[in-house]
Amino acid sequence: MTVRVRIAPSPTGNLHIGTARTAVFNWLFAHHYGGKFILRIEDTDVERSKPEYTQNILDGLKWLGLNWDEGPLFQSQRLDLYRQSIQTLLDNGSAYRCYTSTAELDALRALQEANHQAPRYDNRHRNLTPAQEAAFIAEGRRPVIRFKIEDDREITWLDLVRDHVTWKGTDLGGDMVIARAADGEGLGQPLYNLAVVVDDIDMQITHVIRGEDHIANTAKQILLYEGLGVKVPEFAHTPLILSPEGKKLSKRDGVTSIDDFQQMGYLAPALVNYMTLLGWSAPDTQELFTLDVAAGQFDFDRVNKAGGKFDWDKLNWINSQYLHAMPAAELLPQLIPYWQAAGFELDADADRAWLLQLTSLIGASLERLDGCVEISRTFFTATATLNEEATVKVTQLGAKEVLTSLLTALKATPELGAIEAQELIKQVTKEQGVKKGLVMQSLRAALTGEVHGPDLIQSWLLLH
Ligand code: GLU
Repeated sequence: MTVRVRIAPSPTGNLHIGTARTAVFNWLFAHHYGGKFILRIEDTDVERSKPEYTQNILDGLKWLGLNWDEGPLFQSQRLDLYRQSIQTLLDNGSAYRCYTSTAELDALRALQEANHQAPRYDNRHRNLTPAQEAAFIAEGRRPVIRFKIEDDREITWLDLVRDHVTWKGTDLGGDMVIARAADGEGLGQPLYNLAVVVDDIDMQITHVIRGEDHIANTAKQILLYEGLGVKVPEFAHTPLILSPEGKKLSKRDGVTSIDDFQQMGYLAPALVNYMTLLGWSAPDTQELFTLDVAAGQFDFDRVNKAGGKFDWDKLNWINSQYLHAMPAAELLPQLIPYWQAAGFELDADADRAWLLQLTSLIGASLERLDGCVEISRTFFTATATLNEEATVKVTQLGAKEVLTSLLTALKATPELGAIEAQELIKQVTKEQGVKKGLVMQSLRAALTGEVHGPDLIQSWLLLH
């Protein structure tokens, strides 16, 4: 059996971190078993689906390196396929036409609410006689299609993450709508659960890997597989990503879409590395790995049942590890857009040697790409503006003398290299009879306007 898995985002928003993490697990599983990873765009919700979201999703998956083997398939182009299956379900008696009006459904819901009951359809049109149907049609009612869900059914599956999962038919809300009412003749718009099942059958999906928020859908979908008389695939429900406080991650938590992370200066390999760890751990407890390495080790027995709390410190740490390991020549082109956006003047070609030196200097201190702006501001501006702490340093006792003496010594130095710079500091320290720390602090404050920063000698040489 060839493993075939899919990611099936709805283009109703930008690529969300939760969807991207589900895509990571699907990708890893497919690659572990030499299978196929397929992309399907679930755009049946015409009002909320937008082409720009589809583009954002495709771009985001590509940027993350989650390349797909087949697709993207678009549900909106497959409506006939769904309608055929709806007809099959009507023909074999597992679905029926329901003429209950919105007003009748509202009244039913109000009654259930008043009785403190969960909302559910009461299956009232399951067994209409031809005469009753004809009467509803004559009234001008247009039917939805409902799929029968028996209350006494118990749906059980062996989940790859959650082991045995059981769901009761009574908890599924009564017979479910699988197609909306048609405007004219024929069948109306097929609905989510039906379309997913028909697609997963058609695309020969062997393992459905998705977030645990889909568990109730899985119970309904298993019944649809049975209704269509086909084999049920395996299911793996992955834990949700939680906010740092342990609640479901939502838009209110700020950054949730992949392009936000990209703009903030996270590197794609670092972000996928972190996402993999949100719910999975490597058998060797390694925390830094490429997707390919993780794929070699990936399986669901090391995926947690509990939700993974989003941990910014860990993400930043992982990102910094990737940044620090990156050669300056690779890092430089990633920094340039941030410098340009900050308004720093630079000529990427003419200044290349100097920019590479600057990149080497600051690379080791970066946590995110966007951090390159503040840390290198002094290097792009002619004069340093002293911040409060730096002002304290240059006005402290002895600082003025140290700086004057450094300037004098510098004038007598024909060419300033790393060795000469070290020598100058040593010489002034001795001459002034002060601690080396005072010389270093005064020099950094005067040069850069800051009290912290990258290697002082290298900074001095770059600024000289
Ligand atoms: N379109 C669904 C979503 O974006 C995914 C459905 C599925 O994976 O079965 O949540």
